[in-house]
Parts: sequence; structure tokens; C-alpha cells
Amino acid sequence: MSSPNSASAPSLRGPDHLPAPFPEEQPRVTRFAPSPTGYLHLGHAYAALFAYEAARFAGGRFLLRLEDIDRHRCRPQFAEAILADLSWLGLAWDPPLRRQSEQLEVYAAALERLRELGVVYPCFCTHESMRREVEAAGFAPHGPEGEPPYPGICRRLGEAERARRLRRGGSYCWRLDVERALALTGRLRWFDCRAGEVEARPELLGDVVLGRKDHPVSYHLAVTVDDALQGVTLVTRGEDLFHATHIHRLLQALLGLPTPRYYHHNIVADSRGRRMAKRNRAVTLRHLRDQGRTPEEVWRLLGLGERHPQPASV
Ligand SMILES: [Zn+2]
Repeated sequence: MSSPNSASAPSLRGPDHLPAPFPEEQPRVTRFAPSPTGYLHLGHAYAALFAYEAARFAGGRFLLRLEDIDRHRCRPQFAEAILADLSWLGLAWDPPLRRQSEQLEVYAAALERLRELGVVYPCFCTHESMRREVEAAGFAPHGPEGEPPYPGICRRLGEAERARRLRRGGSYCWRLDVERALALTGRLRWFDCRAGEVEARPELLGDVVLGRKDHPVSYHLAVTVDDALQGVTLVTRGEDLFHATHIHRLLQALLGLPTPRYYHHNIVADSRGRRMAKRNRAVTLRHLRDQGRTPEEVWRLLGLGERHPQPASV
């Protein structure tokens, strides 16, 4: 069980099915959480429709969150376009709309809490120093996401050296010390609607980055905090994020947050079987609309035509 291959995501293939409500879901709350770094494409439309339908099917609420913290890549016009494209598709979200860029104090407080627990450490590595370390070790173990997990160089720094480097004022990030965190929480589990009960194995991803100087919070920390604060009961997202859930479950335990259920759905591929990319204009909703396609055609294209939502009435 220790080889990385045996830990690859369980086969989630097969058609997606909307999960029936769980007894304590009163009501179900789902969310769609895009980053405004480009126009929405068919892959996003599938994720949005799935979350929307999973909520409506259970008589619940569907929330929208803009993951707009990365100020180098996010653009206000893309945020506006997301709202317009979802409205065009007929997906009405329940208020309030959450913008991560307006919640930075909340994430800073969560990071501070983790620092108090002693489960984060500053990392001063550059890409170059990590590459040298991996080469010197003579092998590069690959995590489930293809990248080798962080080799732990700065985890081994003494307190005095840490303090000296922090005073020096260069660039650094905060990493989660997965081993120390697991020592506090013990082994954890989470529930995936397709894979069943899953043992959390955050060590597969290693000491992930939780925040950095020019980017105050990472995806992992922000999404965990937001899902809890927004009362999300069912997290629906693409199966490419299956392994990220190991880390999110650990962060929930450390921060005393509730654990939602998860549904990691299929990823919509393009006609050549590749994952869709924002830079491919042909699959954006905007382009399809300009070509005269209707929302109904988009739903059919996504295989959701039989149970599509009602078009927006305004
Ligand atoms: Zn480091």
C-alpha cells in the first residue's frame, strides 16, 4: 500500500449521478467556485450545472464563489463575464456571492491558528534549490498530481536559523507540516459519493503551501475555510481535485471545521480527449453564444439536456 501508484484515485469512471440527500442535510448546500482568470468553457459549465442540479434536486441552495485572490492572474472583466455566462445558462445562485479577495483577514486568522498549533513552518526554497535537492537525492518521487511532494528541506531548519532567515526579509512561503499535523489529529476519513469512505492520506501531497508573501493564502486553505463558512454540505468538483481532499480533510480537523461530503465528477474533455483549457477560445460559453448556440444546446452537449434547469426569467 505504500507505493504512490497504489494510491492513485479510485476509478471514478462511469456516468455521474446526482447524489440523493443525506439525512442531516437540511438543506443541502453546494457551490461553484471558478477563478476569474479567463472565460468559462464547457468544462466549467458542466461543473456549474452539476453543482446547481445537485442542490435543486435536493431542494437545497446553490452558491457562487469567485476564487479571485491571485491578483496577477484574475481580472474584473472575467469576473463580470462569469456572472453573465451563468445567467445566460439559466443558473441562478443564492446570495450572497462570495469573493475571496474580500475575505483575506479570515484566511490570515486561519493561518495564524495553524501557526499557533505548530503545524506550519516557513520555507525559503526556490524552484532551483528544490530541483538541486531532488537531484542530489537521486530520485524524484511523484505525487498524485505529477509534481514531486516538497522534499522537506526547510522543515529541518532549527529555530535560530528560521528566525535569522525571517529577519533577512527575503521571499518565503508557509508550508503545512503534514507529519506533525497528523500526530495531532490522528488518522482521518472523508466520504466521496463515488469512492465511498476514503482514508485521508495528506502525505501523498506532502507539505503543501498554505500562504506566501505575495499571495496571502493558497487554494487549499481558502477553499477549506470557505466551504465551512458558507455551510457547504456537498462539495462537487472535478475528479482532478480528488487528492486535494486529503489535505482539506486534515485542515478541517486542525481548524475545528465541519467535514462536508464530496462528489468528484467527470472532467469534460474536448473532441481530442484532452482536458479543456481556458486559452482554447472555441469551447468558451461566450464563443458558443456568439455562434448562435442556445443554452439548451449547451446542456445537451454536456449530456445534461434531460434534466436542465429553467432558463432565467429575466
Ligand atoms: Zn524550503
